[in-house]
Amino acid sequence: MNPVIVVHGGGASSISKERKERVRQGIIKAAEVGYKILTEGGSAVDAVEGAVAFLEDHPEFNAGCGSVLNVNGDIEMDASIMSGKDLSAGAVSAVRCIANPIKLARLVMEKTTHCFLTDQGAAKFAAAMGVPTIPKEQLVTERNIKRLEKEKNEKGALKLGFQQDLGTVGAVALDCKGNVAYATSTGGIVNKMVGRVGDTPCVGSGGYADNDIGAISTTGHGESILKVNLARLTLFHVEQGKTLEEAADMSLGYMKSKLKGLGGVILVSKAGDWAVKWTSTSMPWAAAKDGKLHSGIDLHETSVADLP
Ligand code: ASP
Repeated sequence: MNPVIVVHGGGASSISKERKERVRQGIIKAAEVGYKILTEGGSAVDAVEGAVAFLEDHPEFNAGCGSVLNVNGDIEMDASIMSGKDLSAGAVSAVRCIANPIKLARLVMEKTTHCFLTDQGAAKFAAAMGVPTIPKEQLVTERNIKRLEKEKNEKGALKLGFQQDLGTVGAVALDCKGNVAYATSTGGIVNKMVGRVGDTPCVGSGGYADNDIGAISTTGHGESILKVNLARLTLFHVEQGKTLEEAADMSLGYMKSKLKGLGGVILVSKAGDWAVKWTSTSMPWAAAKDGKLHSGIDLHETSVADLP
């Protein structure tokens, strides 16, 4: 099998010109990180974890360092990961003060008999696994302090139901052995209630992976994504014979018409086809396959380059 990885950096409105370059470089690098893991014989799970952990460490994205702040000015992060080989899955929600929630989600998948740990239980498990805690200040960025202030002053986004340009991150991959996987990670939405959990850690909403179909990672308005089970719904359409693009258009269209919810998806099929689709204004993405790196941010904008 020729390996494939696709990554996204969240549904977005217009991104300022100077931020756009940093976002573009970050998303391209994440795809390169994941592709290198795959070409060196790593598994799809290793690749999506590696790409997402890279983006969690990147302050321009809303996951790990760079996560948005809740109503109290704190960071509570959600993440999930799934292997299409045996449908094993791991998720964490409302986790604080760790660098890489996606790595903790993988530990839940591999070291427990459960799928999902939250809040204090997740923190206890992290400590038992030797995951270091870090000061909150290492995750908080100046940009997100300002965004919370703005949000509180405008009180607009929660009413609107979708904040654009959040920067949630995700990856899907197919490895040389034909296994698929997904990983998605987020700080959620700005000014969210304490304890709010979105779609990202919920398997079937924030992503899904099944070797018999493919893998998907989603982004967008969490409450809408949860209500339509966006990830599983999209793969259902693929199972019914739709192309990846058709399936994504159908499920994103359904979410928009039913709930006015906007979002985006990245997909890889068991055959190695891939697709990116969104209903938000833009979505940073990158895909690596056959030594080529495809990337874009705005609609109808795709660059192709040789991979290093
Ligand atoms: N889906 C995420 C959430 O609602 C946000 C995003 O994808 O930007 O938590």
